[in-house]
Amino acid sequence: MAGIKRHIRRESKVEEYLRHRIRAIGGRALKWVSPGFPGVPDRICFFPPFKIGCQGLIIFVEVKKEGKDVSPDQARVLTMLHDYFGHNCNVISTKEEVDNLIRVYEEAKNELHRKDTSNTGHKVEDTKDSISG
Ligand SMILES: [Mg+2]
Repeated sequence: MAGIKRHIRRESKVEEYLRHRIRAIGGRALKWVSPGFPGVPDRICFFPPFKIGCQGLIIFVEVKKEGKDVSPDQARVLTMLHDYFGHNCNVISTKEEVDNLIRVYEEAKNELHRKDTSNTGHKVEDTKDSISG
């Protein structure tokens, strides 16, 4: 029983870390609770658009204990999200994987800014500070 509590604590720490890291870049990682529909991922993560006027990114994240597979309900929902709606869900177990998710987003954003700057000579306005709340 104590082992289960420790796993839950570790998972919730990673989930909290995810929430803070995404908020720090101007996004939100909102808890997804769906009564009567078990197996939805833990968080819907809204990443700011790469530049103002563009669409932001929505990424689903399921936080699991390291080495533990998703439950059958979760597997069913993740398959539905992917096969029917075309969305991937990141299954994350460690703070390093959270860092990697943020890094991939930041690198893609920086690459777009670099291309835009080299094409127009103008700096792309950052969206990070444009969200309140
Ligand atoms: Mg979970």
